[in-house]
Amino acid sequence: MVQEILYSEVVCIGAGFSGLCVGAQLQTMGVENFRIYERESSLGGTWFVNTYPGCMCDVPAVVYSFSFSPNESWSSVYCSHTEILAYMQNVSRKFDLDRRTTLRTEVVDAVWDNGKKRWRVTLCDLASGRQFQHECKLLFTGVGQFGRPRTVEDLRAKDHEKFSGTIVRSTKWDPNITLKNKKVVIIGNGCESLLLSSKMSTHSDCRTAGTGNQILPAIADEVESVVQLVRSRHWIVEDERTGIEGAFGFFGRNMPFMAPAFRQFLVAFLERQWLGYMTDGFSTFVRGTHERAARAYVKKNAPPQYQELLIPGPDVPFNCKVG
Ligand SMILES: Cc1cc2nc3c(=O)[nH]c(=O)nc-3n(C[C@H](O)[C@H](O)[C@H](O)COP(=O)(O)OP(=O)(O)OC[C@H]3O[C@@H](n4cnc5c(N)ncnc54)[C@H](O)[C@@H]3O)c2cc1C
Repeated sequence: MVQEILYSEVVCIGAGFSGLCVGAQLQTMGVENFRIYERESSLGGTWFVNTYPGCMCDVPAVVYSFSFSPNESWSSVYCSHTEILAYMQNVSRKFDLDRRTTLRTEVVDAVWDNGKKRWRVTLCDLASGRQFQHECKLLFTGVGQFGRPRTVEDLRAKDHEKFSGTIVRSTKWDPNITLKNKKVVIIGNGCESLLLSSKMSTHSDCRTAGTGNQILPAIADEVESVVQLVRSRHWIVEDERTGIEGAFGFFGRNMPFMAPAFRQFLVAFLERQWLGYMTDGFSTFVRGTHERAARAYVKKNAPPQYQELLIPGPDVPFNCKVG
């Protein structure tokens, strides 16, 4: 049986922020003939997949959102994954993207047909396993960069298979896990890495690896103990809860014409950090200022026995951690 080949002017792979942005812009430009394919059961990408404790954005949500679709009611500066996902669902509804998105469908291949001047995209309906094809003039890939998290095997941890507890990654968080009164080990101190945790009886060991720094404060109060394994130290800075979301909301509700300017001001304010990324003397000075502030913050807030572990040495200047 000859299968029908679908066609639209544009196909987008992925319904994360990138896919939604493309869809919204096409819609705004009046291009209606497009389709977004997403392999997960929901749009959202990163913010649908990641549900680990403490998962949130690490740039102010006012900026971590579309300039063309501002949200005046962010609840805090750095918002939780649930709030970001809800925002994305609103954007999808607002720009009528739900009906242009096919979920649980994975792009497995894409070939440029030079004769037809079209892409031929092969897809798999993950529910049925059925493959089909879709042609388009323009293929946009919004597949993200964190779709294939490292596994515990990748870590090459010796004898990890002898560990009797459950190991869980931050990216594949199991909502049924309870960490209450458990002994937990977190591997890693990246902001967006992976976490392993285990579900065991109260008195056995519990091991956690990965995205340590968001998870650690989120679970610290409920676990019996927590140990964080890190390859190298990194700078810990004070959480600047500035109330900007309140100011943005105020502008949005009362002086909407001012909201874009305020957001732009915020972008410029955050972008000033590039001054600390150069190799010249001024950048070195800027990094030194940040280092002094971070050092003072840790000294003021961390128990003395941990301070040495929490403050990097001269081998890791501020903004210069590479691994
Ligand atoms: C825990 C975490 C926190 C983060 N915090 C921040 C932050 O605070 N600030 C910041 O700037 N960035 C942050 N990031 C980076 C974040 O990934 C990006 O900001 C942004 O969400 C990327 O959007 P995207 O649409 O490009 O990719 P994703 O969000 O990864 O979306 C890609 C989508 O494509 C789908 N897909 C992939 N391959 C296929 C295929 N073959 N067929 C069909 N569908 C496919 C995936 O299922 C996914 O839904 C964070 C990342 C993580 C993991």
